[in-house]
Amino acid sequence: MTEAPAGATILDGTALAAKVRESVRKDAEKLSATGRPPHLRVILLGSDPASQTYVAAKTKAARESGCTAETVRLPSGIAPGALLAEVRRGNTDEGVDGLLVQLPLEPGHDVRRIYDAIDPWKDVDGVHPENVGRLHQGRPRFTPCTPAGILALLDGGGVTIPGRRAVVLGRSDIVGKPVAALLTCRDATVTICHSKTPDLERVCSEAEILVAAVGRPGFVTRQHVRPGAAVVDVGVNRLAPGVAPPAHLMGTARVRRAFEEGRPVLVGDVDFDAVAPIAGWISPVPGGVGPLTVAMLLANTVLAARLSRERHRSEEMDPLTL
Ligand code: NAP
Repeated sequence: MTEAPAGATILDGTALAAKVRESVRKDAEKLSATGRPPHLRVILLGSDPASQTYVAAKTKAARESGCTAETVRLPSGIAPGALLAEVRRGNTDEGVDGLLVQLPLEPGHDVRRIYDAIDPWKDVDGVHPENVGRLHQGRPRFTPCTPAGILALLDGGGVTIPGRRAVVLGRSDIVGKPVAALLTCRDATVTICHSKTPDLERVCSEAEILVAAVGRPGFVTRQHVRPGAAVVDVGVNRLAPGVAPPAHLMGTARVRRAFEEGRPVLVGDVDFDAVAPIAGWISPVPGGVGPLTVAMLLANTVLAARLSRERHRSEEMDPLTL
């Protein structure tokens, strides 16, 4: 685990994810005892190495937690209609409880058509407009996994959310917007920033809770952070071997060593070494949001299986609802 140079409490995603996974395992066991294990299907398009790694991690974690899991691999260059057909096949397959399409898609595919197509009752990534709407109304069904993980990290670290001033850096459909909605529902006062936000440093430096989801290595520096703030780093940026990291990250021993030895290295959106001494709480990369994202996917898969059974039971009891 990464050590904070001083001061800040580390928001340890690995330890918290283990607890969530243990609770998922117990729930999956109960479902298995009265039927079959919850089943996750992941649709993977193309051969992007990062996507392959993420999908392998998700299906492995699902199996370790008592679920079953499979990956449907579609070749690179497939037509958008064929991908949609695969989503519909998952929707109608009664053996599938949770269904997700690994992002990002290749150019030529419209991700929002995928969001629309996925059965909202199997939508374990929480991207269907019905689930997005429910989230914004404060009655979530499937909370998107990364935002759910971010809230769990804050709660797990004892960070107070109600009444706090939060800034979310990034406005993507899968991270920035939903995490802002969750924080708003928990009574934080939330500002969303993006690439057109003027005076970004000042806005961020007013935050008591700062969530960084920009996809830029070490973007958040000490100047962006209010002393004592809770800083959650969502970024996962892989620096390729031999590619020089941003100059200010060369002060981080782990990054400098990897560069000098020609190894790839993962870094977040926050300059951890610069920010940790003044923050109140900080999440590391790796070992922060990432493990919780996977754990929350498993929790959603178990939820999907439970909801599916409840719906079948109520349909059997009341055929008029069919
Ligand atoms: P994204 O879709 O690329 O969105 C990035 C956001 O950052 C956009 O809203 C963009 O603004 C904003 N942005 C980019 N450059 C900026 C700048 N110079 N100043 C201010 N705002 C800027 O990314 P994402 O999917 O949300 O992911 C963000 C990061 O989180 C990535 O590193 C990704 O790998 C990581 N991630 C991690 C996990 C996990 O499990 N740990 C899960 C998902 C994503 P505009 O909207 O104006 O373009």
